[in-house]
Amino acid sequence: MKVSPFLLFIAFSASLVFSLVACAGKEQQSMEKKRLQYALVIHGGAGTIKPENMDAETKAQYEKALNEALDIGEGILSKGGTALDAVENVIVYLENSPLFNAGKGAVFTYEGHNELDASIMDGKTHKAGAVGGVTIVKNPIRAARAVMEKSPHVLLTCAGANRFAIEQGLDTVPPEYFYTQRRWKSLQRRLEKEKKKEPIGAREEPDAHKFGTVGCVALDEQGNLAAGTSTGGLTAKRWNRIGDSPIIGAGTYADNATCAVSCTGHGEYFIREAVAHDMSARMAYLGESVQEAGEHIINEKLKAIGGAGGLIAIDQYGQIAMPFNTSGMYRGYVTPDERKVGIFK
Ligand code: ASP
Repeated sequence: MKVSPFLLFIAFSASLVFSLVACAGKEQQSMEKKRLQYALVIHGGAGTIKPENMDAETKAQYEKALNEALDIGEGILSKGGTALDAVENVIVYLENSPLFNAGKGAVFTYEGHNELDASIMDGKTHKAGAVGGVTIVKNPIRAARAVMEKSPHVLLTCAGANRFAIEQGLDTVPPEYFYTQRRWKSLQRRLEKEKKKEPIGAREEPDAHKFGTVGCVALDEQGNLAAGTSTGGLTAKRWNRIGDSPIIGAGTYADNATCAVSCTGHGEYFIREAVAHDMSARMAYLGESVQEAGEHIINEKLKAIGGAGGLIAIDQYGQIAMPFNTSGMYRGYVTPDERKVGIFK
């Protein structure tokens, strides 16, 4: 068959125009998706946090602590430090603050002890480390990082995790270090309530107001993502219960190709729905943005099954999401040109 030169010319011109348009589109996309030099997001727990229940002084204390945590993270990232170092050190600060349910300030177990859980993940290598049920480790997030970097394992628990921390030369404290009057009182209130009711069973649903985990996700100058989470768990937890926070893929996840995530809320639901990994999977397989994935998981999927809580997430460009389905979530973020902290909806 003979094709006329005129038709060939038309076809050639059309394909040229098409490629030019496609190129322009791609360039536009990459311009829109410019990666920020750094970005960092924190949370200090989600739950029944309402303006009418918080006096101005308490609110100011939380805002100050959130800002100080952001200062620490920004100090590291703006000087070219790694996302992992930023996440670890921000969480150490939040663990040392009695305001949050992690480290000093952790809630009490049914028997009146403090059992702490934490995890950290490196988005570049997919390496991760976690501890569950530690009782004498001052900063569980440091123990989680030691598990990641100095052991062949991902998750160590209870007595073994305590021993590992001692062997690693991490700071240890007597269990009484974690005592705070506020958390002790909430345990007493909880036990009082229980006395009046049937004895609690394994399936009892904890009240939303007991949440208060801390978490941090960060993007560094090298384009690496990291995520970490630390918690005292739920007030009056029993039987060495461990929540989502030290479970990689449930409470914490990081992948340079998608996002870094840290969750807070009713851990059992976050474990069942593999929330942190689901964030990454939705972005990878469905092409959702970090905000779309977060919104769907927290305000549709979890809400539909009664799972209270929220998450913080950051993508490879420094785009941020902080969805929650409770009345409040302590939260904040910082980038080279923006900073914000918030508590209520
Ligand atoms: N997710 C934590 C847990 O279930 C609690 C929290 O976020 O406050 O252990």
